[in-house]
Amino acid sequence: SPALVWFREDFRLADNAALSDASRCGAPLLCFTILDDAHIQGAAVRWWLDGALHALNAQLQARGGKLHVFRGKSELIVREIVQKTGAQSIFWNRRYDLPGRQTDAAIKAELKNNGIAVHSHIGALLNEPWTVKTRSGAPFQVFKPFWREARELFLPRSPLAVPSGLTFASLPAALSEVCFNPDNYSLRPDCPDWAVGLRETWIPGEEEAHALLDSFMSRDLTAYATSRDFPGENTSSHLSPYLRFGHITPAQVWHAVEEKAHRDSEAGAAKFLAELGWREFAWSLLFAHDDLATRNLRPAFDAMPWRKDGRALKAWQTGRTGYPLVDAGMRELWHTGWMHNRVRMVVASFLVKHLLIDWREGERWFADTLVDYDPASNAMNWQWNAGTGVESAPYFRVMNPVLQSQKFDPKGVYIRRWVPELASLPDEFIHTPWEAGETSGNESRQGYPSPIVDHREARDRALAAWRDLRAD
Ligand code: FAD
Repeated sequence: SPALVWFREDFRLADNAALSDASRCGAPLLCFTILDDAHIQGAAVRWWLDGALHALNAQLQARGGKLHVFRGKSELIVREIVQKTGAQSIFWNRRYDLPGRQTDAAIKAELKNNGIAVHSHIGALLNEPWTVKTRSGAPFQVFKPFWREARELFLPRSPLAVPSGLTFASLPAALSEVCFNPDNYSLRPDCPDWAVGLRETWIPGEEEAHALLDSFMSRDLTAYATSRDFPGENTSSHLSPYLRFGHITPAQVWHAVEEKAHRDSEAGAAKFLAELGWREFAWSLLFAHDDLATRNLRPAFDAMPWRKDGRALKAWQTGRTGYPLVDAGMRELWHTGWMHNRVRMVVASFLVKHLLIDWREGERWFADTLVDYDPASNAMNWQWNAGTGVESAPYFRVMNPVLQSQKFDPKGVYIRRWVPELASLPDEFIHTPWEAGETSGNESRQGYPSPIVDHREARDRALAAWRDLRAD
């Protein structure tokens, strides 16, 4: 009977502990994945998943295997696969979100009861989220000590190679009728086809992940530390969706950075690794707070008088707020499924403070539109920017979208790329197009809207709401 390898958010062959372990057990492998609506969120993520399935299937086919795709409730599908293949063992890498953990625990208990061996391995993190704790055994609430401890705990190791000599079992006839052709499943949009920009921007898969890492590593890491905040320069790695889908592991990235880090780039390397640290921190927070995406970690914010303003929300989502950096970011997101980190912070602050709209609206929009959406990083970063989370930027620190724009996109390179209506504005008006005079301004603004809120008034409104909250 075959050994089962269940791929979930780990669409790769290298540094895949479950696959390596299974390859050593001597049985031919049956590789599969399950499209389970309970575990797939977001339209952009679904689009990526489609590419991830095809890429992994191609890698397995090149070795004489196949990725079998099933659709339905994971518990039922796994039961059926085990029954119809007679498999005695199953291998997977762990998931850490609550729905994933609950499903896996239920399946594991049932399989063990039936005498099937379940081999689970560390998932897409450097450390399991429950292992990084304060001296008193509590989860960390602050990043710096968390990261110090996490680095201590992590034992750098050489990433696992792709197992050689893989042999594969074929799918029993009784299963082939339930096996699914992913092309028939609506992971990709058809009408309207909003994924044109995603296809232009990304190639999902393990091979591309390593090509990106190599190209990032070939650049100077010192430049990363100094220029990562400048969206026009685009110096960050773009690895986030590849990490999200497990095309590459944080341990592989760590290893590559350590190998490359030399004197000159030590600061850059440390900065880059710390970003991976934020990802780890997010997962440890989600592990400690399952409702991180829905509940204010600071309960005082439960009484915040968030505004319900459908028009303002729509203007924010579609990049028509009249603030060029905010609009450039939201359009980049819509077109590519990704947004530069500094701009994510600016647009989040704008929604929550200038528009006084609940951060959960923004969290949901990002969850639907980001290709790198993950429930931990997204929720933590929204709470951080809204001031409602642990170790957050305080609510009263309102980012000025014009100053941010002048500081981080001084020549308007990024704005001109994403807001073509403003492309021909002179530099002096690129951050404040409403200040351009009638002659040079309106004509060259080509229908670009005026600001939907006045910065000062909006700021005062946000601060007044926050002060009332504290007075209660
Ligand atoms: P790099 O700068 O090259 O960093 C390397 C890796 O470190 C990233 O790929 C990512 O895995 C991790 N990382 C970097 N910054 C952060 C961070 N602040 N928090 C957690 N991990 C980080 N990132 C996601 O992966 N998924 C999300 O759903 C997500 N939602 C966000 C929502 C908001 C409001 C904000 C402000 C940030 C969010 N981020 C999210 C974090 C960050 O913006 C992206 O990880 C980063 O922009 C990805 O680009 P990169 O791969 O080039 O990053």
